[in-house]
Amino acid sequence: MASNQQAGSGWDEIDLADRSLVRAGEEWNSELYRIATSQFDKAADILDLEPEFRVRLREPRRTLTVNFPVRMDDESVRNFTGYRVQHTLTMGPTKGGIRFAPGVSEGECAALAAWMTWKCALLGLPYGGAKGGVRCDPNLLSIDEIERITRRYASELIPIIGPDRDIPAPDMGTGEREMAWFYDTYSQLMGHAVPEIVTGKPPVLGGTEARRPATGLGVVYVAEAVCERLGTPLRDQRVVVQGAGNVGLVAALELHAIGSKVVAISDYTGGIVADAGLDVPAVAAWLAEHRTLEGCPLGSAVGRSEVLEVPCDMLIPAALERQITQANASLIDTKIVVEAANGPTTPEAEAILADRGILVVPDVLANAGGVTVSYFEWVQDQQKFMWDLIEIQERLRRLLRAAFGRVTEAADRLDVDWRTAALSVAVARVAEAARLRAIYP
Ligand code: NAD
Repeated sequence: MASNQQAGSGWDEIDLADRSLVRAGEEWNSELYRIATSQFDKAADILDLEPEFRVRLREPRRTLTVNFPVRMDDESVRNFTGYRVQHTLTMGPTKGGIRFAPGVSEGECAALAAWMTWKCALLGLPYGGAKGGVRCDPNLLSIDEIERITRRYASELIPIIGPDRDIPAPDMGTGEREMAWFYDTYSQLMGHAVPEIVTGKPPVLGGTEARRPATGLGVVYVAEAVCERLGTPLRDQRVVVQGAGNVGLVAALELHAIGSKVVAISDYTGGIVADAGLDVPAVAAWLAEHRTLEGCPLGSAVGRSEVLEVPCDMLIPAALERQITQANASLIDTKIVVEAANGPTTPEAEAILADRGILVVPDVLANAGGVTVSYFEWVQDQQKFMWDLIEIQERLRRLLRAAFGRVTEAADRLDVDWRTAALSVAVARVAEAARLRAIYP
């Protein structure tokens, strides 16, 4: 309930003329947004950020809510609700993924958009953050229905997107296929091909071979840099991966390829464990055929939430937000958490992990590979000039390692954890840009 209402008060008692009844920011109020803003506040305190920049950077600049009808396969018509939130317009166009999931809300998009701002700033990419999505369950929709939702949602966003305004990309529940439909819809409406309107497209449409695996690969590059700093080779790590999608499965395959033991992996149906290490390519082949891990014979079955408690050296949550919470943080049996998902650790859980000496590699660094290669794709589309796979992977590795260097330097200088250090670097950069551009008019 809105905290400025008296407990027990009903709508009929509310004086609608009293604007103070709706607090600023109430629109995107959500648990995830609370987490994102508490992280921002911590970094702002460490930086001793002037009040002006706290006001200008804490909340999203622009949000669009759309509610549109779609004809379903059985000829019925259903309304779908979608959002696009642009957090910061100071750094250039905005950039961020599109999520198709049952929990999509304005508040969730606002938190994810803010994290995109800090991620881009930490990596030095010329973007502000954005995020969007449609509230739906793609597992319960046909491919034709998903196409109609994607195309209608893309057309609804026209007023605020564009290759120099806001460039979407894949996120949970979307991938190359949806980006191709998005690109086609936008291009049909503009009257000419505009490949740079989205990133994460199929390579034949101007995407890059490197984009689909980029986030998972980036997770591994960051994990490698972390292990180097700790003086322990990545290939000696026993790893648990939660989530077997775009990010989790690619990270697991890459880790397996370099010799690390992936001892457990899970998806929304549950997980599988093998103490001697899973045959990850065989798990990937199973998933390609069966779509889920349910009934997978390549390891012993483990419950969806128990996966996080499987003993390991490195835990990679790569599924959803708020998976490591006050309820299970004391049961996590690992040395390092590498946040491949966005917002998988609540602040309360993070405090427990810190007390237990468990290092957390924050999402804004660990999963920044996706937006970094998206940036390469956008640059290539604008220049009509393609780089090869090796060149992209080398550039990605270089940028992520440089960002990790900035994080550890700030952590040592400010005597803070890696998340606060990452956010401090990012917030300081955006605040400096905001100071230079000043306020219009
Ligand atoms: P995806 O839809 O491809 O995969 C998600 C995976 O999580 C699936 O295997 C799904 O079954 C699993 N899952 C869902 N609910 C679960 C649960 N309760 N327990 C265990 N597993 C569950 O999504 P993705 O693109 O891999 O994204 C995963 C995370 O990474 C999200 O937080 C997303 O925001 C973040 N991320 C993605 C990208 C990208 O490029 N795709 C970039 C940066 C961050």
